[in-house]
Amino acid sequence: MRVGVAKETAPGERRVALVPEAVEKLRAADVSVLVERGAGAEAWFPDIDYAEAGAKIVTASALYSQSDVILKIHRPSPVEMKLLHQNQVVIGMLAPLLDPAAMAALAGMGVVAVSLDAIPRTLSRSQGMDALSSQANVAGYKAVLVAAEAYGRYFPLLTTPAGTARPANVLVLGVGVAGLQAIATARRLGAQIKAYDVRPETREQAESLGAQFITLRSAIDGAGQGGYARALTEQEQAAQQDELNDVIASHDIVITTAQVPGRRPPVLVTAAAVECMKAGSIIVDMAASDLGGNCELSKPGKVTITPNGVAIHAPLNLPASMPTGASAFYSRNILNLLLNYVTLGELRFDFEDEVTAATVITYGGKVVQEATRKLLQPASRGGAKA
Ligand code: NAD
Repeated sequence: MRVGVAKETAPGERRVALVPEAVEKLRAADVSVLVERGAGAEAWFPDIDYAEAGAKIVTASALYSQSDVILKIHRPSPVEMKLLHQNQVVIGMLAPLLDPAAMAALAGMGVVAVSLDAIPRTLSRSQGMDALSSQANVAGYKAVLVAAEAYGRYFPLLTTPAGTARPANVLVLGVGVAGLQAIATARRLGAQIKAYDVRPETREQAESLGAQFITLRSAIDGAGQGGYARALTEQEQAAQQDELNDVIASHDIVITTAQVPGRRPPVLVTAAAVECMKAGSIIVDMAASDLGGNCELSKPGKVTITPNGVAIHAPLNLPASMPTGASAFYSRNILNLLLNYVTLGELRFDFEDEVTAATVITYGGKVVQEATRKLLQPASRGGAKA
């Protein structure tokens, strides 16, 4: 069996799906590896390192025509779709629920689509395959560095002959994987941190990393299914925004990470809250995308400076800005998932297995994963992106 590592073509993407270290592991499992020329270059993994690990460096067209399995980060672009062929397997962060029609197109081509972002995250054996967590971890770390770089003062308390610098007050809104890493990183830089989330269990997690947890008077319990938050009602959201407005104004740095699966991210930082912040304050909205963000004034992919001197950063792909470390983690995740399917150098899908049933989206010319299939049923089609 041949596995091909494709070069990512999405604008600004610098990561690669598999790093040279993993090539040796695949070869040990009787799998040969093809790597598209320059696939790892932007993440500082040169072709020579792949070749030395035993991979063959090939052109894009050779890669797509000769590989049984294509490893990627993003869903194939329309151009890449044309290069795929029947019975080929493509593994990546395909986001099937965001674009079920793309999955139907892959099924129609007879391509087997396997989505790394669909693994059941609570299974202990899938921890090593959890690319959502590994990449959120990178993003949470980098968000703090973005804030520190933009902030005109110190993060730690500093006492010097030239005076004393007070520590930065950092507020982390949303204490999932990215939020916890943001707390840990800001803490290492010496900041004073407060944190807030609607899931009550996050209090202990935030406190264990040195943050002070904020309890709102409205005391909303927003725990939803599978360890995620639920969408709040309009009244709950209004009460939350109201109380957060007062909290936000007293912070120098606000890092927001709040997400609700399948929904627009909740607005936690309103325009009114931004107006009350001091000049020189920084917001990093990690939830910002074309769907909106946690800050009402975020412009996805841009830095906005408000008239009162607050800089709102809305980065779209923080993991890509740390491509070497992010690729190394992603590579381990995709390798673990792939090896889950390899027996004696060949791919075998056992649909009785929980990980297979969740991650194999298309098979045998059909969309087989239940959640994606449901979205494609006539009654749900209005919700699916074309
Ligand atoms: P996420 O990206 O979906 O959301 C980030 C955070 O935003 C969550 O903590 C969520 O509660 C919070 N949030 C949503 N709406 C909010 C609001 N209105 N106000 C404030 N906060 C709000 O979450 P994630 O980081 O992908 O992970 C979510 C959960 O899944 C965590 O509990 C994580 O520990 C858990 N998880 C578990 C495993 C496992 O069991 N092995 C693996 C990965 C993740």
